[in-house]
Amino acid sequence: MKIFCIGRNYADHAHELGNIVPEEPVLFLKPFTAVALTDKPLHLPEHLGPIHHELELVVSFDTYAKDIPEAMAPGMIASITLGLDLTARAVQEELKRKGLPWEKAKAFDGSAVIGDVHLPMTSATDLQAFRLRLLRNGDPVQEGRTADMIHPVTKLVHHVSRYITIEPGDLLFTGTPAGVGPIERGDVLEGFLDDKRLLHARFA
Ligand code: MG
Repeated sequence: MKIFCIGRNYADHAHELGNIVPEEPVLFLKPFTAVALTDKPLHLPEHLGPIHHELELVVSFDTYAKDIPEAMAPGMIASITLGLDLTARAVQEELKRKGLPWEKAKAFDGSAVIGDVHLPMTSATDLQAFRLRLLRNGDPVQEGRTADMIHPVTKLVHHVSRYITIEPGDLLFTGTPAGVGPIERGDVLEGFLDDKRLLHARFA
């Protein structure tokens, strides 16, 4: 099982970090050991500097898929939830400056927080018509609409599957809108898809 992640898929977030909006999806991976479930308080790593939240629409797969045309991508998706792509921002900035891979900033243990509620993908699901919101201790910090994705989810699935075989159980993080920021010990983060709370994480 592996986690595909897309970077810079909302123009407003790319701009807030001073990045150029990419023509092709920016792809990176997190390993299985990155998965953090929210049934218990989560721990932030202490040696990686500030850890930022990135709220993202996450889709899961229940089939093998290779070289999937965009039109077939919805049929590959089993369910939908929200996730937090936790990012050691100072580490990432340093790696970006040096032109090095991002794993130390993005793939550490517990860096892929997965929502506790999963919605089934149906023929009626419009992946590009959701509103995402993140509350930090009750205050809104991130908000976005999947309609504003630079590359829609079906294109991401197509693109990813050209390079790496999708396997049952794999997850795809589809990028974060603007408003990323630091998490502190004691924070409660709540992620909403439209008006449904799919993610509720406590950080000890
Ligand atoms: Mg992200």
